[in-house]
Formats: sequence, C-alpha cells, structure tokens
Amino acid sequence: MLEGRPVADQIKQEVAEEVSRLSHTHGFKPCLAAVLVGDNDASAVYVRNKIRTCAEVGLLSEPCNLPAATTTDQLLVLLRDLNANENIDGILVQLPLPGHIDDYSIIEAVAPEKDVDGFHPVNVGLLAMGRPRFVPCTPAGIIELLDRNQIEMAGAGACIIGRSQIVGRPLANLLLQRHATVTICHSRTRDLPGVARQADILIAAIGKPAMIGRDYIKAGATVIDVGVNKFSDKEKAVEVFGSDAARRTQAIVERGYTLIGDVHPAEANSVAGSITPVPGGVGLLTVAMLMRNTLQAAKLRRGLCGPDFRPCLFS
Ligand code: NAP
Repeated sequence: MLEGRPVADQIKQEVAEEVSRLSHTHGFKPCLAAVLVGDNDASAVYVRNKIRTCAEVGLLSEPCNLPAATTTDQLLVLLRDLNANENIDGILVQLPLPGHIDDYSIIEAVAPEKDVDGFHPVNVGLLAMGRPRFVPCTPAGIIELLDRNQIEMAGAGACIIGRSQIVGRPLANLLLQRHATVTICHSRTRDLPGVARQADILIAAIGKPAMIGRDYIKAGATVIDVGVNKFSDKEKAVEVFGSDAARRTQAIVERGYTLIGDVHPAEANSVAGSITPVPGGVGLLTVAMLMRNTLQAAKLRRGLCGPDFRPCLFS
C-alpha cells in the first residue's frame, strides 16, 4: 500500500517548521482565504478540513462563506478585496461553484500570485512551459508520493486515465518534466485496458467507482487511485473489497456508504506492485500540498524565495 498519511504528515511537518521560522525571523504568519459558496455538504467538509489543517501547521485562515444565491458579480467583488488585502497570501475558491456562477471568470479573477490552487491561466501556462509556480494540489501531491516512495519516474511509462484541468492535464505536465513517457486517456480512448496495461505507473482520475480492474493493470505496476466515490452495495462488498469487506460493510450499515476509488481494490491488489488506498491515499496529499502552496505564496510575495526559486518538486 502506498499510504498517503506518512508523506502528508512529513510535508505538513516541513511546512510547520518553515512557518514557525518565518514567524520568528520575519514576524508574520501566512494566511489562506477559503471561499465557500452555497451548501454542498462535500465542499463544506473539504473546506473545514483545509481550515483545520491550516491551524495544525500554524497557518492563519480566513473562512469566507457565502450563500448559494451569491451572484458572479458579488463573488468577483469579494475576490477583488481578497486580492488587494495585504494580510491574505493565498486564495482558495472551493469547486464546484453553484451552476449559475461563471467558473472561468472566477478562476481568472484570483490574483495569479495568490492562486494556491494553480488554476489561473497564468499558472497553468507556466506549468505547461515547464516553469511551474503554483501547481494544482492533487497532481503535485501525487509527484511527492511517488518521489518520497522512491518510485522511479524517469523513463517509466505513465498512463493517466482522465484529462481534467485539476488532475489529468497538470499531472501529465509534471510527469513529463520528470522524464516519464506519458499517455493520457479519456472516454474516447480505444482499447483502454490494453493501453493502460502498458504502464509502469497507472493513474486513474475518472470518477467511476471500481472501474479499473485487473485487465487494466500490468503486473507489478504502481497504481495511483485519485477517484473518490460513494459505494453502498453491501451485496458486492466481498467481491470488491476482498479481505477488507467486513469493515466496509459495517461502514455502509452505519452511515449508508463507504468510500471507493476508481480502481477495483480486490482485483488491483492481486496484480499491482503497489497501490494507493481510498480513503487514506491521494486525498491527504492534496490538503498537505495546499498548505505548502500557501507557504510558498507568502514567501514569493515578500521576496523571500530568492532569485532561483523553484518549487521543491523540480529541484
Ligand atoms: P472529471 O473532471 O469529471 O474528469 C473525468 C475524466 O475521466 C474525463 O477526462 C473523462 O473523459 C474521463 N472518463 C470518464 N469516464 C471514462 C471512461 N469510461 N473511460 C475513460 N475515461 C473516462 O473528474 P476529476 O475532477 O478529474 O476527478 C476525477 C476523480 O478524482 C473523481 O472521483 C474526483 O472525486 C476525484 N478527485 C479526487 C481528488 C483527491 O484529492 N483525492 C482531487 C480531485 C478529484 P472525457 O474528458 O473524455 O469526458
């Protein structure tokens, strides 16, 4: 198992040490503004978790909770204020936004130097050019997970299933920079199992519970499961979770569901070399990398990174 927790804890520890050093030597603590619009339960849990983690590593946070009826213009006004606020180093706008809000204009309205999610076109462009500044947190966390588990990326065949702006595309750029040979797959890919089965490193970021079974995985491959899906079928728990079925069934009975990734756990366990669990894998890294991006934003804004600043990922 490629557990997320040890790596996430290590990154948070590094951030906490640097935050404490900055606080003593420069007299400030970085601050993250967390914007949540509406009452999507999952989004509220994610934002609460991010704010709690800020406190854990010594970062300040500024929750900005807005009602579901907030208009695009009202949100733009808030972002203008946050961009101009000297006390705010990073701005996170939790996605998805309610359907009536124009996502693109919101993403573009976040000042690129405070864009700790790495979604602004300037940061997307820098990453595509091989000069990353803020890298989206989930792909950045996946690179850390591979790196810190000594999984060789240079020369490896990497297959990413999913081409979203927040996972698949930025991850392809990152893996390419680490000299992997990258294949990006999606819903129109022909013979997806055959393509995926070539990969030394297989990443599933699809949003389809347990879709990636044995047929997609090369023996001994490293499998990174990005998907987070709800699973509530007690009858299928043994087939899908294998030896973990009893614990999963209990979760389904107690709260109506358990979490599952895009990879079929029982089948993958029998063929993969290593695999990230869901929960307890990539998701933990995502939050840790948000903390690190916020720290970097604070240092960059104050000119504390030095002229050869490169995110640690690319050293
Ligand atoms: P998304 O924007 O919905 O993109 C899904 C991608 O999967 C698309 O590129 C789509 O192809 C592809 N796809 C869908 N069905 C497919 C199929 N049958 N065969 C091949 N490809 C298929 O999803 P996302 O935002 O990247 O998220 C993916 C999953 O990761 C979700 O479960 C999400 O909850 C999870 N996630 C987890 C974290 C974390 O921190 N753990 C962070 C972000 C996302 P097309 O482009 O052709 O439509």
